[in-house]
Amino acid sequence: MKKQFKAESKKLLDMMINSIYTNKEIFLRELISNASDALDKLRYKSLTENNLKVDKEKLAIHIDLDKKERTITIKDYGIGMTQEELENNLGTIAKSGSELFKENADDKKNLDIIGQFGVGFYSSFMISKKVSVTSKSAESDEAYTWESTGADGFSIKKSEKQENGTDIILYLKDNTEDENYDEFLENYKIESLIKKYSDYIPYPIIMKEEKTKKDENEKEITEIEEKTINSRIPLWKKNKSDVKDEEYNDFYTDKFYDYEKPARIFRNVVEGKCNFTSLLFIPSHAPYDFYTKEYEKGLQLYSKGVLIMDKCSDLLPDYFSFVKGLVDSEDIALNISRETLQENHQIKTIATGIENKIKKELENMLSENREDYEKFFKNFGTQLKYGIYSSYGIKKDDLAPLLLYTTSTDKKYKTLKEYIEKMSENQDKIYYACGETVDKIDLLPQVELVKDKGYEILYLTDYMDEFVFKVMHEFEGKQFMNVSDEKLNLDTEEEKENLKKVNEENKDLFAKMKETLTDKVQAIQFTHRLKNHPVCLTSKGEVSVEMEKVMNAMPNNENVKAECIMEINENHEISKKLIDLYQQKDFESIQKYTEILYAQARLIEGLSIENPTEITNLICDILSK
Ligand code: ADP
Repeated sequence: MKKQFKAESKKLLDMMINSIYTNKEIFLRELISNASDALDKLRYKSLTENNLKVDKEKLAIHIDLDKKERTITIKDYGIGMTQEELENNLGTIAKSGSELFKENADDKKNLDIIGQFGVGFYSSFMISKKVSVTSKSAESDEAYTWESTGADGFSIKKSEKQENGTDIILYLKDNTEDENYDEFLENYKIESLIKKYSDYIPYPIIMKEEKTKKDENEKEITEIEEKTINSRIPLWKKNKSDVKDEEYNDFYTDKFYDYEKPARIFRNVVEGKCNFTSLLFIPSHAPYDFYTKEYEKGLQLYSKGVLIMDKCSDLLPDYFSFVKGLVDSEDIALNISRETLQENHQIKTIATGIENKIKKELENMLSENREDYEKFFKNFGTQLKYGIYSSYGIKKDDLAPLLLYTTSTDKKYKTLKEYIEKMSENQDKIYYACGETVDKIDLLPQVELVKDKGYEILYLTDYMDEFVFKVMHEFEGKQFMNVSDEKLNLDTEEEKENLKKVNEENKDLFAKMKETLTDKVQAIQFTHRLKNHPVCLTSKGEVSVEMEKVMNAMPNNENVKAECIMEINENHEISKKLIDLYQQKDFESIQKYTEILYAQARLIEGLSIENPTEITNLICDILSK
């Protein structure tokens, strides 16, 4: 009975069958990688399960070409697949693949991305009219054959096979005017593809070769010899000077399922308490699932070139979870278990080493290539901030120098160090303002005057920015100060005195106004912090208005309230108007003005108002007078 492919897989498959993608040769890399993974899995299982014995000699991949039948056979003695696995694994494309496919499927231009990313097993349909997979799982006595000509689904039949592993037979498409599939039947072609894409595969990739010899009677005879094509030296063990950037890029895109080459590649050999080599990559963009729970951080862990764990999370701190790559150490036992990993001293030593390397590399990137660094920061900067926040500031010295903030001066990124270097002599604080976007912050009334006085302001748009400053307290001895903090005071002593006096004189007016606002604000007062704008909200204490917004957006929020003060511009006409109204004992108007001013202040802060109809009615009322 024919079974149908899952919808997503079918679309991809159709695309492979009708592929106009020029790089058809990647099918071989994909199938060899799968075979290598299957051998890895078998070996890993044999380390943990005693009843599974592995014959080391058999850990190899064989590729046979048959010119007469026009077939390519890829054979491994790996873990194999059960009937169910054949159906599930080959009837559906891998999750990562399908996500990417969904994003790009309708865009012909993105075909290239799909090709680079590698689409695994299905790529064999770019060159095959029929594919047959016979597999016997290492944990089963039965073998099955999966077969498909692509479009009309697949079939699975019981089959015969002595040894565990998988044989894949590709029946090549017929040649056309444009395409000569026969070239894939030539030894030299396949050999060159193995060298190009799969040289570092740790298992021998073996091909048969015809050798012409002369026998005792000087008669020519052909003998078939086996030959290992790949050098098997892992990329990270090769001489640094022998490896081209392109090879690292290919290795990265292939192993870590990315379609874009990495932003940064760094390889280190560490000798000391624990010897290890690391090959690490900083991706050019965040993986599609990076900000979801599904994302798993970790580095591949190798012991003497043999993969023992695919995602060793203990090797990476959370704030560097975007780093991809691998660690190879001769000091790690092959059969190290996940359970004992966390207590393992070597792992801890390696993790510390890795953390320092990443930090150093980011510092280098920041100083050597600002453009790349800014791009990196846009992608992953939040992680670094999170590192400071979640360590309660312990990681501040390591991570704070890596942070970037847009500033009021030219709306470009600056480091905190760069900000401090530009500070004038009489400035002793690092000023910042928070909001949804840089443009919105730039329009905040509180920002205007601080800018006017010649101070630069950091514009914080990330929801966690202010929380990070709170745990940091200061940077290089300079305290952080929100321009909306009630404590901000840029007045001269004389101005301060004057303001204090005016506020004192109008105590009763404020008390009257507070009757309207009740406990919505802590206090009402005149201010000098505003230039042209009539009113703003400032906050007193630890929680700012911006923090209130963030905390209340979280699940199970405890309805945190910033302690707000409504401040009215003493130099604005409105303050005189209020004083007048109070003297005339026009309390009804004062009530209306207060309501409107408060609503105004909230709207400017990006907060909602509870009674929009009431407010608009009030405004109309006054307008029509
Ligand atoms: P991916 O390798 O990205 O997961 P593929 O489409 O290439 O996607 O393969 C799908 C799945 O089929 C693999 O994850 C693996 O479980 C299984 N598979 C493919 N080839 C083999 C093989 N030679 N031996 C065992 N399992 C295999």
